[in-house]
Amino acid sequence: MTTAAAPSFDPCDPVAVAQALIRCPSVTPEDGGALGVLEAALAPLGFVCHRLRFEEEGTAPVDNLYARLGTEGPNFCFAGHTDVVPPGELKGWSIDPFAAEIHNGRLYGRGAVDMKGAIAAFVAAAARHVKAGGVPKGSISLLITGDEEGVAINGTRKVLDWLQAKGEKLDACVVGEPTNPKALGDMIKIGRRGSMTAFLTVHGAQGHVAYPHLADNPLPRLARMLAAITAEPLDAGTPHFQPSNLELTTIDVGNPAHNVIPAQGKATLNIRFNDLHSADTLLAWLRERLDGVGGSYELDHFVSGDSFLTPPGPLTELVADAAERVTGRRPEYSTTGGTSDARFIKNFCPVVEFGLVGQTMHKVDEHTALDDLTRLTDIYGEVLRNVFDRIG
Ligand SMILES: [Zn+2]
Repeated sequence: MTTAAAPSFDPCDPVAVAQALIRCPSVTPEDGGALGVLEAALAPLGFVCHRLRFEEEGTAPVDNLYARLGTEGPNFCFAGHTDVVPPGELKGWSIDPFAAEIHNGRLYGRGAVDMKGAIAAFVAAAARHVKAGGVPKGSISLLITGDEEGVAINGTRKVLDWLQAKGEKLDACVVGEPTNPKALGDMIKIGRRGSMTAFLTVHGAQGHVAYPHLADNPLPRLARMLAAITAEPLDAGTPHFQPSNLELTTIDVGNPAHNVIPAQGKATLNIRFNDLHSADTLLAWLRERLDGVGGSYELDHFVSGDSFLTPPGPLTELVADAAERVTGRRPEYSTTGGTSDARFIKNFCPVVEFGLVGQTMHKVDEHTALDDLTRLTDIYGEVLRNVFDRIG
């Protein structure tokens, strides 16, 4: 447990909190002081803050934060990450990516939308809620990692394990990823597709192209295998998911000689899959088609995340109602896009994602409209006012 000095900004002001966060250069795995900003805002409100540093051999240590206000259940959790992707080419930026400057009603900086802005909005919503005397009937917690944009080994997953070991239960969670494609109120993510990458190596026997009977060329087999796995779509989609998609990302032989039959050929593919599949069923699906071609091959893989769905219900309605009340728009429920830490949280409690407008995430001149920050704060405030009546 740690305590922090009073912040030099008003925790009720989402713009001030977002600026303080953006000014911490927290490119993964660096913290850059970002979690200290949050502790300084949350501890005076009564949140008990735990700074959790995890490291594993071969990975950089990462700082995380779990902060909880209240001891009773249900425990409503906001999850997010203070780490950001690198700014990239600095000369592409019109403004210093870590200066958090405001121009024309927009706050600029790396992390403005992904996702320091949303964290600031939640902190401001919680601060206003507490200062207005809204002591929660349950608990409000924040699970903030510094390892989402990186390998995600020493982040949310390990914090969740730590919570479980402590007997700490989460009852519902909102992740503040930038889910809105164009305007605040567009979209809530209620699940995500899974992602699996597979590495195929097809073996043959090297030899002279003029003496093919003395060799075994693996490339025609590789070509037939790739044709077999791309001939038909994996499925036609499900009620909440778009069709699964297999994408070949590279085919490598690396043979510099025009007169040598190579010993092997390789290909890499990525599958984004819906709730009809798991990594195991996909591997079986692949092997069936590869075996149909025959010959010697190896298939390695790694899974970035399984698909998951929080079916429409109390949590999705809570967030949709709050967004509609503030923006006048009823968000669409969607499962599109890449993976997020929600893929770990879904094993512990229902989870949905709702944050800012994602148009400039990971780009140069990342920015959010100040008006969006203000309205997202109102939306999260609305969620906090209603959550304990609607989620048991
Ligand atoms: Zn993010």
